[in-house]
Amino acid sequence: MRVLFVDKIRFFDTTLRDGEQTPGVSLNPEQKLEIASRLADIGVDVIEVGSAAASEGERSAIRIISDAGLRTEICTFVRALVQDIDLAADSGADSVHLVVPVSDLHIAKKMRKTREQVASMAYSAVEHAKERGLIVELSGEDASRADQVFLRTLFTEGVGRGADRLCFCDTVGLLTPEKVAEFIPPLARIAPLSIHCHDDLGFALANTVAGLKCGASCAHTTVNGLGERAGNAPFEELVMSLEVLYDYKTRIKKEELYHLASLVSRLTGVPLPVNKAIVGEMAFTHESGIHAHGVMREPSTYESIKPEMIGRKRRIVLGKHSGSASVEAALHEMNYTTDENQVKEIVKRIKELGDQGKRVSDTDLMAIADAVLAIESNPVIKMRQFTAVSGSNMIPTASVTLEVNGKEMTGAATGDGPVDAAMQVLRKSIGDVADIRLEEYHVDAISGGTDALVEVTVRLSKDGKIITSRGARTDIIMASVEAMIAGMNRLLEGRT
Ligand code: MN
Repeated sequence: MRVLFVDKIRFFDTTLRDGEQTPGVSLNPEQKLEIASRLADIGVDVIEVGSAAASEGERSAIRIISDAGLRTEICTFVRALVQDIDLAADSGADSVHLVVPVSDLHIAKKMRKTREQVASMAYSAVEHAKERGLIVELSGEDASRADQVFLRTLFTEGVGRGADRLCFCDTVGLLTPEKVAEFIPPLARIAPLSIHCHDDLGFALANTVAGLKCGASCAHTTVNGLGERAGNAPFEELVMSLEVLYDYKTRIKKEELYHLASLVSRLTGVPLPVNKAIVGEMAFTHESGIHAHGVMREPSTYESIKPEMIGRKRRIVLGKHSGSASVEAALHEMNYTTDENQVKEIVKRIKELGDQGKRVSDTDLMAIADAVLAIESNPVIKMRQFTAVSGSNMIPTASVTLEVNGKEMTGAATGDGPVDAAMQVLRKSIGDVADIRLEEYHVDAISGGTDALVEVTVRLSKDGKIITSRGARTDIIMASVEAMIAGMNRLLEGRT
């Protein structure tokens, strides 16, 4: 059955306002501009860039983004206060997200006011915002716990005073699709309605889709589902569910979704959960033999969407669940020629590593394959000497002597810490030979104490080719160096 939505579902992005209210997240105006430009480019309709009343920095962000000439409506959060609205108008915003508490709980306990007082504040605020030339989205905070008759009256009168749009906020994530079906249709008949859902019980996406089915024309979302507490409805999940599950064309540039998610994760410092839908590290990674084999034959056997649709690639990783098909495919990619018995032996050794709780990196696989095929390795890079120093009142410094293709090279570099300095000096020392970039760096401690075995995994790239490599030592710096050198050798030997 094809579900009918409004002709054009609008996307109201609040990553820079509600998303920034994620505990511990703070973005400066330049970072906000970078994210806003991406959001405008990908095709969202409204960007809520912050709260004008919150700080000077927020106002400066609104000003910079409003002046950037993005083809998107620039909105800011305001309370029903003249001063908030004036600050918003003076910062150059196109519109205000005018939020008014509507549940008796919020009205009595938070505001210490009556319904009548709050309603009259809302009406004056709408009128003032219209006088200041702003587009007004009048928003009911905690609407899912409000008396719906009161809410309807407030919205109807608000529109009478000039509000352009309305928004139903499920502020603490208590809505269900069943309640949406009851609450939303009468409100959506008053004026264009947005739905703003929180994910406290994991229902934000389902409630948002339900809201759109029931006549709401706009969804409030955040990239990666950032937001207060458990966050808001995730933009990337909403876009892909509408496209894939409901066959609705969103006009969002889907192939940019992963890039946007990574940018927001990097700038906010909130890592993407590895198993997150659409954008998590493991969302398109297969290890188990049956799945990997299936996906290699026909991706749709174990993938609901193609990773390329959102700008990603499928990954097959090796571990104790691997079968011979994925091991063979990986060996083939590395240009090894193997017979059936050799593959069997390699699979056995991979499973042994996996059983020890180890990640099996590309260099591990290569070392195993070399051993099984009795290939003598003569690495391009050999390390002769390495020192790293750090302490108080000094810049962490690392120096290294390498033998590269039989030629000795010595270098030194500084960094943010000793590990960083070590990575820098290694890259620098082979700079003349190849441009190798460190794409990702990951540390696992195998056991608990300060003497724990530390496992470092790095992802390195050269001319677009990406490989992973691992080092394991009790010394984190040496584990990092070992992982780097093994990976660089692998890239330089061209057996990729
Ligand atoms: Mn919110």
